[in-house]
Order: sequence, then structure tokens, then C-alpha cells
Amino acid sequence: MKQVLIVTGGSRGIGAATAQLAAKRGYAVCVNYRHNQAAASAVVEAIAQAGGRAIAVAADVAVESDVVRLFETVDEQLGRVTALVNNAGILEQQRRVEDIDAARISRVFAANVTGSFLCAREAIRRMSTQRGGDGGAIVNVSSVAARLGSPGEYVDYAAAKGAIDTLTIGLAKEVAAEGIRVNAVRPGFIYTDIHASGGEPNRVERVKASVPLGRGGQAIEVAQAILWLLSAEAAYTTGSFIDVAGGK
Ligand code: NAP
Repeated sequence: MKQVLIVTGGSRGIGAATAQLAAKRGYAVCVNYRHNQAAASAVVEAIAQAGGRAIAVAADVAVESDVVRLFETVDEQLGRVTALVNNAGILEQQRRVEDIDAARISRVFAANVTGSFLCAREAIRRMSTQRGGDGGAIVNVSSVAARLGSPGEYVDYAAAKGAIDTLTIGLAKEVAAEGIRVNAVRPGFIYTDIHASGGEPNRVERVKASVPLGRGGQAIEVAQAILWLLSAEAAYTTGSFIDVAGGK
């Protein structure tokens, strides 16, 4: 069966590594992004040069009409989606809770939590065997922050990832009988641009000594876990978590 994957936030970091690895494994891939068209085009180009098939679609996952348009574009250009990686996520400047306002909490929850719910909804409407679909797999990109809490940095972000964990558990049970598996990865400290948006581009270098394996992780190492969870090798795995965090 043709495999069609949507990777939200597929233009950079973990999402870009996932999109490229999936294309190598035969998925037609939609590389979703929010602003950075050049980065998304570079991922699509790299996939095409390696002989794969990909499209880039701009859509803010926090905006319901954008998410609907994202999935309709994939219906038209790649076919019915069979796999979703809810990877798009943001964090903001490192702050203590006493200095965080409501607008920031709303932005962080909208991108990380509302976005994952909306994309999951659109995917299930297409995948569910109760709706004429052929089933599918969803992988949510959570974080070890969900269990560590990110004190002094971004407890709001950690709480949003806690919500992603709960979404994974509940949704996995809700759609298990409809041919859809739902799992999550929880990355630790991975070398990507996200740390710059927290105000500390070299954060992984500072914190890596606390990792039992003694180093930060690479985006491809997270992508490999995601691709396993999407694959038939994980056919009996749902509502589960893989921590890709060097033992943290
Ligand atoms: P990143 O390098 O900052 O890339 C973020 C990606 O998400 C970009 O493609 C960005 O697109 C996109 N994006 C952000 N907000 C979006 C929105 N509202 N709608 C659509 N796309 C959006 O991030 P990363 O480090 O690869 O993180 C990927 C995921 O892993 C996130 O969920 C993050 O929380 C999680 N994670 C990362 C780490 C880590 O150490 N890096 C650890 C644990 C968990 P534009 O560039 O166009 O804005």
C-alpha cells in the first residue's frame, strides 16, 4: 500500500530528519512548515535528489483552517494520509513561572497541544476504518520535559508536553479498534535550532554532562525511533513512549 506521511514542522531539526529518513524508506512526504519556506524547500529538494517524493505546505498547526487546508492539499497532491508525525513545537525565552503571562501560555499551548489535536483529528478522519480508511499510525513528539518539568527554563512548555503524553494515551485507546496506532517519542537534549528560541543556542553543550550517555543527541537518532514506531515492526505497539534521551 502507498504510504503517505505528513510531518508537521518538517522543515528543520527533528522534523526535517524524519521527513528525509521516511522518504528513503518509501513514504511520499508532506513537509509542513510555518514561516521558513527556504528551509522547507531545501528538505523537499534533498528528498527529490535522493529519488523520493515530497511537497512543502505552509500551515500554522495552531490555526484550524490552516490544518484543514494542509490535509486537503495532501489529499489532492499525495493521496490519503497513512502516517502523521505531530512534530511542530515551540518554546519561548527561559523564564521562571512567576514571570510568564497568559499570552505566552496560550501561544505555547496552541502550537504544541492544539496543533497536535487538530492534526490528529484530520488524520483520524482519513485513516479510521470506521470512516472507510485503511488505518494508519500517528507519532507525537513529546519531550523528557514532560517528566522533568523544565524548572527555571519553561515549565509552560513542559506542561504542554505533559498534555501531549496524555493525548497519546487517550487517543491510542480511542482509535485502537479502528486500525490506528498512536505513540510518542520523548527526545532529550537534541542539537537543533529550538534552543536559540529559548535564548540559549548552545544549551545542549551546557547540559550534556547531566546525560548518562554523556552527550547531546542528533535529530536523526530521534527520527529513527519515530520511523520504527510508524513501521509494521511496531504493529503491536500503541499508547507507548520511546525516550530518546541518552538515559536522562
Ligand atoms: P526546531 O529546530 O525549532 O524546528 C521546529 C519546526 O517546527 C520548524 O520546522 C518550524 O517551522 C515548525 N513549526 C513551529 N511552529 C509551528 C507551527 N505553529 N505550525 C507549523 N510548523 C511549526 O525544533 P526541533 O528541536 O526540531 O523540535 C521538534 C519537536 O521536538 C518539537 O515538538 C520539540 O518540542 C521537540 N523536542 C525537541 C527537543 C530538542 O532538544 N531539540 C527535545 C525534546 C523535544 P518554521 O521554521 O517555518 O517556523
